[in-house]
Amino acid sequence: MRTLVLNAGYEPLAVISFRRALVLVMNQKAAIVAADLEHPVTGSTSTYDRPSVIILTRYVRIPHSRLVPVSRRGVLRRDANRCAYCDRHATTIDHVQPRSRGGEDSWENLVACCLFTELPVLLALLTFVALRRMEKGVEVTA
Ligand SMILES: [Zn+2]
Repeated sequence: MRTLVLNAGYEPLAVISFRRALVLVMNQKAAIVAADLEHPVTGSTSTYDRPSVIILTRYVRIPHSRLVPVSRRGVLRRDANRCAYCDRHATTIDHVQPRSRGGEDSWENLVACCLFTELPVLLALLTFVALRRMEKGVEVTA
């Protein structure tokens, strides 16, 4: 089991072993965001949560070239597959600020989203497209 490391600004930095992640948490360099509760780590004296996602307590500046590219899977994993709007199981991602209004494909602007939340948006889009087609049709026959 590997652990995803988030920068203090929530952008993913790296994937490390859960042991290294635990050391960071114990040294208060990071906090656990999500843990695999079904598989705790059993140490010699006590049991620990097995971190699946941790966040650094201090912001780390890294060269742009080393940034992890934005991916659908990465966003879903960061948000632990929970819809940012209703907390249901997320299967897709959504732009907080829509692309049509200049929203970027960035870690900050993308959140996990479920189909229930996305569905009204899709329906609105389909209705819009259908209406545009009808308008065109009217123009042609007129
Ligand atoms: Zn939702």
